[in-house]
Amino acid sequence: MTSSPQIPLPAPTRLSQPFWDACQRGQLLVQRCSDCDGLTFIPQPACKHCLSPRLEWTEVSGKGTVYSYTVVWRPQTPAFPVPYVVAIVDLDEGCQMMTNVVDCDPADVHVGMRVAAHFRRMSDEITLPYFRPER
Ligand SMILES: [Zn+2]
Repeated sequence: MTSSPQIPLPAPTRLSQPFWDACQRGQLLVQRCSDCDGLTFIPQPACKHCLSPRLEWTEVSGKGTVYSYTVVWRPQTPAFPVPYVVAIVDLDEGCQMMTNVVDCDPADVHVGMRVAAHFRRMSDEITLPYFRPER
């Protein structure tokens, strides 16, 4: 029996390490600007709204709505079982996250679908955030 290859995992940087550490604890973090209160994701050195460098990590609910999605049938590597759903989720707190929608039939995913984050441990260092239908 052959084992399926491991999907490529992210390599945390000094900037993104707090995000990945939080995923290991089952928490979803984004950056909040201390100057304009705007939220930024993916991790950045400056606020995407006002360019302030004064960003603090803040936990979000992990609940949101599918903004857009696609169903992938030709993966970048054979490690990804197909079909799978790549989606942009509007988090309830007001920023977007690119993710996978899992634990449902890809044909059931639709714009406006309510989803919630859940976490899958991939290695000792990496736990990945996914989204699935809100229950
Ligand atoms: Zn700002």
